[in-house]
Amino acid sequence: MTYYCERCRQDLYGYPKININGQIYCYRCSEAVVKEISKQEVDDFKKSLPYKEFIDSKNNYLRELQIWEEKSKQLKSKNWSLAIYFGIPLMIFLRNWDKGKITLTGDTTVDIILCILYFIIAGIINIKIENKREIKFNLSNPKPIFSLIEPRSDFKVNSFLLPNDGSQTNPDEYPLNIYNRDDYTCQKCGIKKELKDLRLLTLRRYSKSQTYDPTVKITICAKCLQDNDHKDF
Ligand SMILES: [Zn+2]
Ligand SMILES: [Zn+2]
Repeated sequence: MTYYCERCRQDLYGYPKININGQIYCYRCSEAVVKEISKQEVDDFKKSLPYKEFIDSKNNYLRELQIWEEKSKQLKSKNWSLAIYFGIPLMIFLRNWDKGKITLTGDTTVDIILCILYFIIAGIINIKIENKREIKFNLSNPKPIFSLIEPRSDFKVNSFLLPNDGSQTNPDEYPLNIYNRDDYTCQKCGIKKELKDLRLLTLRRYSKSQTYDPTVKITICAKCLQDNDHKDF
């Protein structure tokens, strides 16, 4: 039986033939075709209702969080004004005491101790007031939380290598076969990813005779490939 590539019309006798969703392509074209199909599916998915709803609620959450953060910031600036409120009378008192105009007890040592006590007590009261205020704020304004998980397109391009009719080919050499076998799922983190985020990883697996077998390949995502030294495999 004769096959021609659906895209470039090349005669595929003796060449690898990839079946993608029922159409036959040469290996070179197959990559481009799968990329096109994947991109289309992802684009369609991003227009779908579940995804739109997710984006809407995420934007909602970000708006609420911004309002909350502004309110929380206001609370913190009030904290400062209270500290100054306690601090200014203390400073005035210290200045006057220094010039010898005012003494509280007639004894400077006792005055200093009283000043320090006043400062400590004012500080404790300040902290208590602020804690109460913060608790009250948190009770009446709970921090918005976002717990939705981003929906992912469940796309899968159905592709497989047809049996060869001439030259020898190793199915492990074709990324699409590996991605398909692994269901477009990173074998490290287990997350299904879009084609553009997938990579092939050659496992450094040794046979009993300690010879390196380069044909053992798995799907891994770009992130895991970057993050890891693959010692686990
Ligand atoms: Zn082609
Ligand atoms: Zn991963």
